[in-house]
Amino acid sequence: LYVDHPLGAGQCVVLDRDQAHYLFGVMRQGPGAPVLLFNGRDGEWLAHVSQAGKRGGELTCAQQSRPLQMPPDLWLLFAPIKKARTDFIVEKAAEMGAARILPVQTEFTNAERIRQDRLQAHAVEAAEQCGGTYVPQVDDLTRLDRLLEGWDSARHILFCDEALVGAAATMAEMPRGPWAILIGPEGGFSDPERTRLRALPCAHPVSLGPRILRADTAAVAAMTLWQAHLGD
Ligand code: SAM
Repeated sequence: LYVDHPLGAGQCVVLDRDQAHYLFGVMRQGPGAPVLLFNGRDGEWLAHVSQAGKRGGELTCAQQSRPLQMPPDLWLLFAPIKKARTDFIVEKAAEMGAARILPVQTEFTNAERIRQDRLQAHAVEAAEQCGGTYVPQVDDLTRLDRLLEGWDSARHILFCDEALVGAAATMAEMPRGPWAILIGPEGGFSDPERTRLRALPCAHPVSLGPRILRADTAAVAAMTLWQAHLGD
């Protein structure tokens, strides 16, 4: 269970109404029941229910069951698309172990804003579902050009571009280190964006095959390839 609360031996964790409903109503747990908690920072902790009510409850931490497991240093930069598909991308990125998720506004991105809180909640749910101890941070929408202005050149960019069909780079030969995958919007990247990205020494243009994939498919495919070739 994810809690936004510090975890440590003897620490009391107060549950809100939704958490109490889930734990006591849906999961049918009661006083004394063991519960595994994580907050994305302190690893996983074994706690016991010390108070159970309909509107809330309390858990007491006993001991750490797993240390914090940091994911590989991989960011996912993607241009938000339709709501359900954006939700999907965030969920899958969190499941696949992205360390940070950055929605970016490109020239052809239609979204003007995103619901960062909703997307962060999806990342929490995904981490819960796959038994992770880490929750990736989901940033607010940032313009790609601004992000590139302050880009740390030590972080490589896997620049996924369907315009490269037939010229696939070999990922196995790419350098190790911190990476960011960049996925464009439904309309793809503009020519000035392509020119700018190709001029960046840390950006590595890559094809994901001869078919034009939807952005959500491309995000999952790129993360899978990265994990296979460059992940730990
Ligand atoms: N505008 C393009 C078109 O209609 O021809 C399609 C863009 S595609 C739907 C969205 C994003 O997915 C692209 O900007 C790219 O980042 C990624 N993508 C899709 N297919 C790809 C491929 N075969 N290789 C590399 N990237 C791909």
